[in-house]
Amino acid sequence: MQVDMMAIYVPDLNFPFMAEAVAYAEEHWPEELILDDWKGVRNVLLDDLSKLNNLGRPHTMFTGVVTLSRDWNDLTDDDTKPLVELFDDAIGIFSTDQFISSELWGGRGGGSMYYCAHCGGCLGVKKCTACGMTFSDDGYRTGWGIPMPPKLIKQFRDRGHQFALDPERLLPR
Ligand SMILES: [Zn+2]
Repeated sequence: MQVDMMAIYVPDLNFPFMAEAVAYAEEHWPEELILDDWKGVRNVLLDDLSKLNNLGRPHTMFTGVVTLSRDWNDLTDDDTKPLVELFDDAIGIFSTDQFISSELWGGRGGGSMYYCAHCGGCLGVKKCTACGMTFSDDGYRTGWGIPMPPKLIKQFRDRGHQFALDPERLLPR
């Protein structure tokens, strides 16, 4: 099934009684609230290219949202380190829970990163740029990507995912 991510991640931030709900939460479970102080968000998808649907498109195993301590454009303009290292440094919270992801997104703009479930490589428009497995273009991927940062590799492994090839082989040395 094709899921339109934008339909999920654009919450209406002006719902009725929002101020009352926030005040109630702050009074009753302040220890469970997280200060929304991050500067950017990215969608991260892990696609299984060995399971294509009848249109030749990959099965998405995980969809998550990652928070960043820096704005994405600020990161990509920084040339002091490889972008994957800057990305890794900036990573805060990662969640694959749809409700929490929507909260993390919080109405911000942000792009999507697509990775291969087999090898952790970033996905081009019609194939994995690392292992070369192919799929048909669904118009979502731009063909641009960077290696999967170590913190995200750990997040997927913590969720029980086993990469057939170690994604860390793709990191700059
Ligand atoms: Zn791959």
